[in-house]
Amino acid sequence: MPPRPLDPRTVTLFRKRLGSWFRRAGRDLPWRRTRDPYRILISELMLQQTQVSRVVEFYGRFLRTFPTLERIAAAPARKVMESWEGLGYYARARNLHTLSRTVRDTHNGELPSDIASLRELPGVGAYTAGAVASFAFERRAALVDTNVARVIARVFAPRLNPKRSRDLSRIWTLAESLLPRTGKATWAHNQALMELGALVCTARIKRCGVCPVSTLCKSVE
Ligand code: SF4
Repeated sequence: MPPRPLDPRTVTLFRKRLGSWFRRAGRDLPWRRTRDPYRILISELMLQQTQVSRVVEFYGRFLRTFPTLERIAAAPARKVMESWEGLGYYARARNLHTLSRTVRDTHNGELPSDIASLRELPGVGAYTAGAVASFAFERRAALVDTNVARVIARVFAPRLNPKRSRDLSRIWTLAESLLPRTGKATWAHNQALMELGALVCTARIKRCGVCPVSTLCKSVE
Protein backbone atom coordinates (compact mmCIF):
# COMPACT_ATOMS: atom_id res chain seq x y z
CA MET A 1 0.00 0.00 0.00
CA PRO A 2 1.34 3.48 -0.81
CA PRO A 3 1.95 5.67 2.24
CA ARG A 4 -0.97 7.96 3.03
CA PRO A 5 -0.55 11.67 2.24
CA LEU A 6 1.18 13.42 5.10
CA ASP A 7 -0.79 15.47 7.58
CA PRO A 8 0.04 19.15 6.80
CA ARG A 9 0.45 19.97 10.49
CA THR A 10 3.00 17.16 10.87
CA VAL A 11 4.86 18.40 7.80
CA THR A 12 5.01 21.95 9.15
CA LEU A 13 6.24 20.77 12.53
CA PHE A 14 8.79 18.44 10.94
CA ARG A 15 10.23 21.25 8.82
CA LYS A 16 10.29 23.66 11.74
CA ARG A 17 12.09 21.31 14.13
CA LEU A 18 14.50 20.10 11.48
CA GLY A 19 15.28 23.69 10.46
CA SER A 20 15.99 24.98 13.95
CA TRP A 21 18.16 21.94 14.71
CA PHE A 22 20.16 22.51 11.51
CA ARG A 23 20.75 26.18 12.33
CA ARG A 24 22.14 25.05 15.67
CA ALA A 25 23.96 21.83 14.77
CA GLY A 26 24.67 21.91 11.01
CA ARG A 27 28.35 21.67 10.11
CA ASP A 28 30.15 24.52 8.39
CA LEU A 29 31.27 22.72 5.23
CA PRO A 30 33.04 24.49 2.34
CA TRP A 31 30.32 23.66 -0.19
CA ARG A 32 27.68 25.17 2.08
CA ARG A 33 29.37 28.56 1.77
CA THR A 34 28.92 28.79 -1.98
CA ARG A 35 26.17 28.80 -4.59
CA ASP A 36 28.64 28.42 -7.46
CA PRO A 37 27.13 25.63 -9.60
CA TYR A 38 30.52 24.24 -10.58
CA ARG A 39 31.72 24.03 -6.96
CA ILE A 40 28.44 22.46 -5.88
CA LEU A 41 28.69 19.89 -8.66
CA ILE A 42 32.25 18.97 -7.68
CA SER A 43 31.25 18.54 -4.02
CA GLU A 44 28.28 16.38 -4.94
CA LEU A 45 30.33 14.12 -7.21
CA MET A 46 33.04 13.78 -4.58
CA LEU A 47 30.55 13.04 -1.80
CA GLN A 48 29.11 10.07 -3.70
CA GLN A 49 30.68 7.02 -2.02
CA THR A 50 33.21 9.12 -0.09
CA GLN A 51 33.22 10.37 3.50
CA VAL A 52 32.83 14.06 4.20
CA SER A 53 36.18 14.34 6.02
CA ARG A 54 38.00 12.87 3.03
CA VAL A 55 36.19 15.14 0.58
CA VAL A 56 37.11 18.20 2.68
CA GLU A 57 40.78 17.22 2.23
CA PHE A 58 40.52 16.92 -1.55
CA TYR A 59 37.95 19.57 -2.44
CA GLY A 60 40.09 22.71 -2.06
CA ARG A 61 43.09 21.12 -3.76
CA PHE A 62 41.03 19.96 -6.75
CA LEU A 63 39.45 23.40 -7.13
CA ARG A 64 42.87 25.06 -7.09
CA THR A 65 43.93 22.80 -9.97
CA PHE A 66 40.63 23.18 -11.82
CA PRO A 67 38.97 26.44 -10.73
CA THR A 68 36.30 26.28 -13.46
CA LEU A 69 34.42 23.71 -15.50
CA GLU A 70 35.98 25.29 -18.57
CA ARG A 71 39.45 24.37 -17.31
CA ILE A 72 38.37 20.75 -16.97
CA ALA A 73 36.99 20.76 -20.52
CA ALA A 74 40.28 22.14 -21.82
CA ALA A 75 42.38 19.53 -19.99
CA PRO A 76 43.09 15.99 -21.14
CA ALA A 77 41.05 13.35 -19.28
CA ARG A 78 44.29 11.95 -17.87
CA LYS A 79 44.96 15.20 -15.94
CA VAL A 80 41.50 15.14 -14.37
CA MET A 81 41.96 11.51 -13.36
CA GLU A 82 45.34 12.35 -11.80
CA SER A 83 43.79 15.12 -9.69
CA TRP A 84 41.10 12.69 -8.55
CA GLU A 85 43.72 10.26 -7.30
CA GLY A 86 43.05 9.09 -3.75
CA LEU A 87 39.29 9.63 -3.93
CA GLY A 88 38.55 6.35 -5.73
CA TYR A 89 35.57 5.54 -7.97
CA TYR A 90 37.29 7.03 -10.99
CA ALA A 91 34.18 6.73 -13.16
CA ARG A 92 33.15 9.98 -11.45
CA ALA A 93 36.22 11.78 -12.78
CA ARG A 94 35.75 10.33 -16.25
CA ASN A 95 32.10 11.41 -16.26
CA LEU A 96 33.05 14.84 -15.01
CA HIS A 97 35.44 15.28 -17.91
CA THR A 98 32.80 14.19 -20.45
CA LEU A 99 30.22 16.41 -18.72
CA SER A 100 32.52 19.44 -18.89
CA ARG A 101 32.81 19.08 -22.66
CA THR A 102 29.06 18.53 -23.08
CA VAL A 103 28.38 21.71 -21.07
CA ARG A 104 30.97 23.62 -23.10
CA ASP A 105 29.58 22.41 -26.41
CA THR A 106 25.83 22.48 -25.73
CA HIS A 107 25.22 24.94 -22.84
CA ASN A 108 27.75 27.71 -23.60
CA GLY A 109 29.87 26.49 -20.71
CA GLU A 110 27.18 27.17 -18.08
CA LEU A 111 25.65 24.38 -16.03
CA PRO A 112 21.86 24.37 -16.56
CA SER A 113 19.59 25.01 -13.58
CA ASP A 114 16.59 22.86 -14.46
CA ILE A 115 16.28 19.22 -13.48
CA ALA A 116 15.50 17.90 -16.97
CA SER A 117 18.61 19.45 -18.56
CA LEU A 118 20.80 18.44 -15.63
CA ARG A 119 19.59 14.85 -15.93
CA GLU A 120 20.79 14.72 -19.53
CA LEU A 121 24.39 15.37 -18.50
CA PRO A 122 26.79 12.39 -18.24
CA GLY A 123 26.92 10.87 -14.76
CA VAL A 124 24.10 13.05 -13.38
CA GLY A 125 21.30 11.01 -11.79
CA ALA A 126 18.12 12.12 -10.05
CA TYR A 127 19.88 12.89 -6.77
CA THR A 128 22.73 14.94 -8.27
CA ALA A 129 20.34 16.90 -10.49
CA GLY A 130 18.20 17.74 -7.44
CA ALA A 131 21.28 18.68 -5.43
CA VAL A 132 22.67 21.05 -8.09
CA ALA A 133 19.23 22.61 -8.70
CA SER A 134 18.65 23.12 -4.97
CA PHE A 135 22.12 23.88 -3.61
CA ALA A 136 23.44 25.99 -6.49
CA PHE A 137 20.34 27.58 -7.99
CA GLU A 138 18.08 27.50 -4.93
CA ARG A 139 15.36 25.81 -6.94
CA ARG A 140 12.47 24.16 -5.11
CA ALA A 141 13.74 20.66 -5.91
CA ALA A 142 13.63 17.45 -3.88
CA LEU A 143 16.68 15.23 -3.51
CA VAL A 144 16.93 11.76 -2.09
CA ASP A 145 20.24 10.06 -1.41
CA THR A 146 20.69 7.08 0.92
CA ASN A 147 20.76 9.31 4.05
CA VAL A 148 17.63 11.21 3.09
CA ALA A 149 15.79 8.04 2.05
CA ARG A 150 16.57 6.41 5.38
CA VAL A 151 15.40 9.42 7.41
CA ILE A 152 12.16 9.87 5.46
CA ALA A 153 11.33 6.16 5.59
CA ARG A 154 12.04 5.92 9.31
CA VAL A 155 10.06 9.02 10.22
CA PHE A 156 7.04 8.66 7.93
CA ALA A 157 6.88 5.23 6.35
CA PRO A 158 8.94 2.53 8.12
CA ARG A 159 7.54 -0.20 5.91
CA LEU A 160 9.21 1.27 2.86
CA ASN A 161 12.57 -0.19 1.98
CA PRO A 162 14.76 2.37 0.18
CA LYS A 163 16.62 -0.50 -1.53
CA ARG A 164 13.48 -1.47 -3.47
CA SER A 165 13.00 0.78 -6.47
CA ARG A 166 9.20 0.96 -6.11
CA ASP A 167 9.55 2.01 -2.49
CA LEU A 168 12.28 4.47 -3.37
CA SER A 169 9.99 6.24 -5.80
CA ARG A 170 7.42 6.57 -3.00
CA ILE A 171 10.10 8.07 -0.80
CA TRP A 172 10.79 10.62 -3.55
CA THR A 173 7.09 11.48 -3.52
CA LEU A 174 7.22 11.95 0.26
CA ALA A 175 10.36 14.10 -0.10
CA GLU A 176 8.50 16.32 -2.56
CA SER A 177 5.56 16.69 -0.20
CA LEU A 178 7.91 17.84 2.57
CA LEU A 179 9.42 20.71 0.56
CA PRO A 180 9.00 24.25 1.86
CA ARG A 181 7.35 26.79 -0.44
CA THR A 182 10.41 28.72 -1.59
CA GLY A 183 13.64 27.63 -3.20
CA LYS A 184 15.69 29.48 -0.60
CA ALA A 185 13.98 27.65 2.27
CA THR A 186 14.33 24.41 0.28
CA TRP A 187 18.13 24.87 0.26
CA ALA A 188 18.24 24.78 4.09
CA HIS A 189 15.60 22.05 4.34
CA ASN A 190 17.51 19.70 2.01
CA GLN A 191 20.81 20.39 3.76
CA ALA A 192 19.14 19.71 7.11
CA LEU A 193 17.63 16.41 5.99
CA MET A 194 21.01 15.21 4.77
CA GLU A 195 22.68 16.40 7.96
CA LEU A 196 20.18 14.55 10.15
CA GLY A 197 20.92 11.35 8.22
CA ALA A 198 24.66 11.92 8.57
CA LEU A 199 24.81 12.90 12.25
CA VAL A 200 21.75 11.63 14.12
CA CYS A 201 19.76 9.02 12.21
CA THR A 202 22.63 7.10 10.66
CA ALA A 203 22.65 3.69 9.00
CA ARG A 204 24.47 2.20 11.98
CA ILE A 205 22.88 4.02 14.88
CA LYS A 206 19.69 5.92 15.69
CA ARG A 207 20.33 8.72 18.18
CA CYS A 208 16.65 9.12 18.98
CA GLY A 209 17.38 10.66 22.38
CA VAL A 210 18.85 13.77 20.73
CA CYS A 211 16.80 13.75 17.55
CA PRO A 212 14.84 16.94 16.81
CA VAL A 213 11.98 15.05 15.12
CA SER A 214 11.66 12.16 17.59
CA THR A 215 8.10 13.04 18.66
CA LEU A 216 6.96 12.82 15.02
CA CYS A 217 8.91 9.68 14.13
CA LYS A 218 7.35 6.28 13.53
CA SER A 219 10.65 4.47 14.22
CA VAL A 220 11.68 6.18 17.44
CA GLU A 221 13.35 3.90 19.97
S1 SF4 B 1 13.68 9.51 16.16
FE1 SF4 B 1 15.29 8.00 15.84
S2 SF4 B 1 14.65 6.77 14.09
FE2 SF4 B 1 13.43 8.66 14.12
S3 SF4 B 1 14.52 10.08 12.76
FE3 SF4 B 1 15.21 10.48 14.84
S4 SF4 B 1 17.04 9.17 15.10
FE4 SF4 B 1 15.93 8.43 13.30
